[in-house]
Amino acid sequence: MPEIHSDIGPDYLRDESRKTGTADSISFPLNEAEIADAVRWAAANGQCITTQGARTGLTGGAVPSGGHILNLSRMKTITDRDDLIVQPGVTLDEIRAHLKSRGNVFFAPDPTETTATIGGMASCNASGARSFRYGATRESILAARLVLADGDVIALCRGQCMATGRNFRLKTESGRVIEGDLPSYTTPAIKTASGYFVRDSMDLLDLFIGSEGTLGIFSELHLKLQPWPASVWGVMAFFGKEPDALAFVHAVRGLKDKPASIEFFDSCSLNLLRSHRLEGAPEVPADYHTAVYVEYHAADEDEASGMVERMCEALDGCGGSEDRTWIATDDHERERIRLFRHALPEAVNSLIDERRKTDPAITKLGTDMAVPDDRLDELMALYHASLERLGLEYVIFGHIGSNHVHVNILPRTVKQFEQGKAQYLEWADAVIRMGGTVSAEHGIGKLKTPFLLKMMGARGIEDMRRLKRLFDPQCRLNPGNLFAC
Ligand SMILES: Cc1cc2nc3c(=O)[nH]c(=O)nc-3n(C[C@H](O)[C@H](O)[C@H](O)COP(=O)(O)OP(=O)(O)OC[C@H]3O[C@@H](n4cnc5c(N)ncnc54)[C@H](O)[C@@H]3O)c2cc1C
Repeated sequence: MPEIHSDIGPDYLRDESRKTGTADSISFPLNEAEIADAVRWAAANGQCITTQGARTGLTGGAVPSGGHILNLSRMKTITDRDDLIVQPGVTLDEIRAHLKSRGNVFFAPDPTETTATIGGMASCNASGARSFRYGATRESILAARLVLADGDVIALCRGQCMATGRNFRLKTESGRVIEGDLPSYTTPAIKTASGYFVRDSMDLLDLFIGSEGTLGIFSELHLKLQPWPASVWGVMAFFGKEPDALAFVHAVRGLKDKPASIEFFDSCSLNLLRSHRLEGAPEVPADYHTAVYVEYHAADEDEASGMVERMCEALDGCGGSEDRTWIATDDHERERIRLFRHALPEAVNSLIDERRKTDPAITKLGTDMAVPDDRLDELMALYHASLERLGLEYVIFGHIGSNHVHVNILPRTVKQFEQGKAQYLEWADAVIRMGGTVSAEHGIGKLKTPFLLKMMGARGIEDMRRLKRLFDPQCRLNPGNLFAC
């Protein structure tokens, strides 16, 4: 049994969303048996549980709503197999450092925040730039063990526990059978981290990935590794206008070579980067309006150069030119482009911090929505039109390969902040009408539940609630995440 502390440091009451909660106690289990003991202790004491990884989440998912905090950040064991078996508190940084000694393999999911734990990543189905080729965290999980709300354990191995249509049956380690119906909706076939993942005859491991800690607590994860590509080329192409950049995105997606990532920077992003350039990053000439970064992973230099050659042909047909393109073929050049790209979120945050000094009520407003391929241009036009109409300052950048850009509204006043919030809700309606998702990677947590309700409707939410009750009848695990119990 882990020690139960009633003295809770203030940091454990919040996450990166800046939302703050309350709790009665906290424990730091070191293994699966201790998680189960803490869960049984909480049940015996009528307490709900909020699970925490590194608390880097942006939607308040790890912020407690009273009861007990189960902090898994000390569960750090890594076991080498052909792939990797990890405890949930291992961070992405630690996975990468561990794999350095093996040299020829890597773990593909790459959220920007590398101090995130693998338990948090699996729970939110986190993703990053390279998920365009390698998928989100879901695609890199081969098996998992979870502790359920009564302390029982379930072990799931990809391909071995499948639903039959919309019906499922699972056996816990103690022999208890949990069975019932999956929700009636179908998760859209786009990048998404909104609500329970549901498909006909689905792999039940996928039901738990992205469930934001509401169905069970990941106590162990078996991770899939990828062979490290021998050659990685990065291309930053600049355009004189945004429609050309969008045409290029469509053209690159139509080529036979699948890039690892396709990232976007609108004209406001480039302006911000001009004024916040990091040392060592290249300068952006004044007449470059919009940029698209494409990264190719290949088996050797010849294959990579062929891929980039075909991409450059597409570039010519879209108003771009090789003269206005940076091509990085080695680590040094790629690092310069990386410095350039990574300056952007930092610049946004420092601008907001500056503005908060005059009015602390102001925060960044960042969207996380995605749409199907054929709605991308419509979505971008909508974003620009509404922001220009309201006269709001903003930058748009992100994972355009998956039609998933982050609009960051940069309010100067509380009035602009309120206008931005209202606009965000209107965009959510439009995105849902386009068949899109209200969260593509950050999840719903406690802050975006009104957005999930819009997307799923009352019936979809009730279906999820019904499913949760099969695993967690008293709603003890992460209450308030995704929906009110
Ligand atoms: C600067 C910055 C950049 C970011 N960039 C990205 C990005 O590029 N892509 C992206 O997807 N996200 C990004 N994020 C969001 C965040 O890093 C991810 O959501 C990450 O997966 C959270 O991991 P964590 O360990 O911090 O989880 P926490 O914040 O501690 O928890 C997140 C959720 O997971 C649950 N949880 C945690 N551990 C477990 C477990 N073992 N079992 C069950 N549930 C669990 C929690 O209850 C909570 O609901 C970013 C955040 C920041 C601050």
